[in-house]
Amino acid sequence: MKDLISQRANSIDASGIRKVFALAEKLKDPVNFSIGQPDFDVPEALKKEAIAAIKAGANKYSQTAGDSALVAKLAGRMKTEFGWGEPAVMVTSGVSGGLQLLFMALINPGDEVIIPDPYFVIYKHMVNMLGGKCVFVDSYPNFELPVEGIKRAINDKTKMIIVNSPCNPTGAVYSAESLQKLAETAAKKNIVILSDEIYEKFCYEHEQCPSIAKYSEDVVLLRGFGKSYAMTGWRIGNAAAPAKLKAVIDAMAKIQQYTFVCAPTPFQKAAIAAMDYDVSEFVKSYRRKRDLLCEGLKGKFEFVLPGGSFYLFVKAPVGSGTKFVERAIKNNVLVIPGKVFSEKDSHFRISYATSDEKIKKGVEILRRLAGKAY
Ligand code: PMP
Repeated sequence: MKDLISQRANSIDASGIRKVFALAEKLKDPVNFSIGQPDFDVPEALKKEAIAAIKAGANKYSQTAGDSALVAKLAGRMKTEFGWGEPAVMVTSGVSGGLQLLFMALINPGDEVIIPDPYFVIYKHMVNMLGGKCVFVDSYPNFELPVEGIKRAINDKTKMIIVNSPCNPTGAVYSAESLQKLAETAAKKNIVILSDEIYEKFCYEHEQCPSIAKYSEDVVLLRGFGKSYAMTGWRIGNAAAPAKLKAVIDAMAKIQQYTFVCAPTPFQKAAIAAMDYDVSEFVKSYRRKRDLLCEGLKGKFEFVLPGGSFYLFVKAPVGSGTKFVERAIKNNVLVIPGKVFSEKDSHFRISYATSDEKIKKGVEILRRLAGKAY
């Protein structure tokens, strides 16, 4: 099989999250803390928009860069939010689609990409697949943006710095000051910043989470609809950049022609309506879930109170993250080993996008496990 499958595909390992999913199948009614998507369904009004779009015949290819009304609305939002003059915008097949296009548009073999560790899994594997080199900068134990470490990691080969706030897996929301400092550094060195803001709506301590796009002309912003409106299967995201980086969005659109072709057309129509849909009640309920979980684990586990997303990154009480996860799974609680998101194996990730009952049950089991030697 070695010859049949490309070295590129052989160079990456199957997702550690999928492995936990596979294990989950064998358990009876587990507490599933492994899933990275909201537990509510797409709001009824938005389902109606998608159905109406299908009935009205919006079933063909859209423009490569996306439905023109959606693109215009997104560009309008970037203008007001960041003061960008003429934003370059395109619609992507989820944020994953945007990541793939962006990396393909920018990374040459040997180019270095700086990634704060812990990080979202796709970055590492996609950069590696393209022959780029990941340079990880440790952000343990507080998971703040490691600006000084990033500065030290920059060299002539650095092409990109990845910022993901609110962060998966830590839930960290980076401060405006740290983002501003990083923006200044990138500007001096001519480095592109990728700001992955897929969790922007899940922001608990601010009206709106600070975005580096406010301080930088060197940023490519990726945002999505999947998490915010619980439509992860609809595969809609978007990429945007200030006029200075229009060439990057153009290159991404060119690659889209030969890969995804376009994002799903009827769901792009529904996304136009989604942009005006208020999800603050969902966000409030997720803030409450965060508090329920953190209150429950306090005293038994070490963690930093997350300011956003729906994850908590917890230190294993003894031994490695992987060992603790094996024990948790044996006790019917599905969590993800931290090493899936990190070069270290000291933590595990909890997704609290589940019912309050499951959170309470999970807390009870985890607290029991924390006290036991193994
Ligand atoms: N970025 C981050 C940080 C994520 O957590 C995810 C999804 N888990 C993605 C991107 C990909 O999102 P999408 O489903 O829109 O492709």
